[in-house]
Amino acid sequence: MSCWNPKIEMMPRFELNNVQLKHLRAFAHKLYDQSHFYRERMVEAGVTPDDIVTLDDAVKLPFMMKKDLREIEQARLFMVSNNELVRYHASSGTTGRPTIVGYTQHDIDQWCESVARGLMSAGIGQQDIVQISYTYGLFTGGLGLHYGAERIGATVVPASTGNTERQIDLLKNLGVTAMACTPSYMMYLGETAQRMGVSIKNDTKLKIGVLGAEPWSEGMRERMQEWLGIKAINIYGTSELSGPLWCECSEQAGMHVWSDLTLAEIIDPKTSERLGPGEKGELVITMLQKEALPIIRYRTGDITTIDEERCACGRTHPRIGRITGRVDDMLIIRGINVFPSQVEYSLMTNPEVGNEFQIIVERTGALDDMTVRVELKPEAFTDNMAGIEKVRARVEHKLRSTLNIHANVELVEPGALPRFEGKAKRVIDKRKL
Ligand code: ADP
Ligand code: ZN
Repeated sequence: MSCWNPKIEMMPRFELNNVQLKHLRAFAHKLYDQSHFYRERMVEAGVTPDDIVTLDDAVKLPFMMKKDLREIEQARLFMVSNNELVRYHASSGTTGRPTIVGYTQHDIDQWCESVARGLMSAGIGQQDIVQISYTYGLFTGGLGLHYGAERIGATVVPASTGNTERQIDLLKNLGVTAMACTPSYMMYLGETAQRMGVSIKNDTKLKIGVLGAEPWSEGMRERMQEWLGIKAINIYGTSELSGPLWCECSEQAGMHVWSDLTLAEIIDPKTSERLGPGEKGELVITMLQKEALPIIRYRTGDITTIDEERCACGRTHPRIGRITGRVDDMLIIRGINVFPSQVEYSLMTNPEVGNEFQIIVERTGALDDMTVRVELKPEAFTDNMAGIEKVRARVEHKLRSTLNIHANVELVEPGALPRFEGKAKRVIDKRKL
């Protein structure tokens, strides 16, 4: 098994903890001494850098929120001059105004290092041809994966998004072995290939998909692996932290968070108390060495768990589980919390159900009403109305038992719902329009 940086990736846990603590303390000192913004925050929280003696003392540090990045003047948050800045990126703006982020060369190097370790742990190496079909530009996905893949010496095909038929031609003709894109785009690529008479499983060399930037379910993974003949690897990150940062190793049992560069915590989103390994809550990240736009205890809004056990791959760094939703994604329907990823999970267990769905929430009178529009697979789309009604009733029943709430299910013909090149938008909440 290949490993990009074995000395760090396999470092015994106690040694790694010491490295992490050293960086955490240095970072707290630096911010206290050099950033008015962070000094004020630390004074408000009643903490000084000298209070950080153990890793657990991180809980004394103040949080940083997405709204801070939106509302606080850039000049107060950025810690370097224009001369040292080498790049800007921006978030996608899924939940509001996009935030601007900046990087020094050192920030870019560490970002690449994280991606390089992750890609190699997933089984990608110098011999691979990696097609990057995340959007290039201000969005961090394209360039983030690009630089990481180049660093490990892989051959990069910088396809970006769009022109899907051409993407299939490239994939086939160049002998692409790994594809990096959103999971929804991977599905769309699969469908487009099928329409073109190309089986990704049988007619291409594709073996790995590095898929992220949006929530997706285990059911979707199984489906893609079977249908496309690939290992579907989850990758996570946010622009505020740099961009895509951590991905699963070939064990596919959580995404390794590199502890020499990052401190990951899980908190209860309501009480802000830190939770233990295995407990589900909001992911909070400190990037321990970031220069241009330092981030301490950044509340990502993403819900997951942390596993501290050594991975079967031998790496000692903790792993975060699949993101089951983001705090702002959660729909409250008749008082019950529903994450779109739960809907996806349930739908994917039905063999007749196709790849796309849409959730529509509206208020009828005083009550919330949820309708899930679900595409059928081409082979399940017949004129046997009684048969189709049976499928519909079963899909509805399964959804009810997953969500604990009734959702109307409407079956639609294959290809009827929108497809996405970047992040999928599957929820239409008419209560908010
Ligand atoms: P935005 O917050 O505007 O979408 P980004 O483009 O930086 O900005 O996207 C980061 C967000 O995307 C994360 O906070 C998370 O909600 C989501 N995300 C990224 N990767 C994954 C993944 N593998 N699984 C689930 N959600 C993900
Ligand atoms: Zn591992």
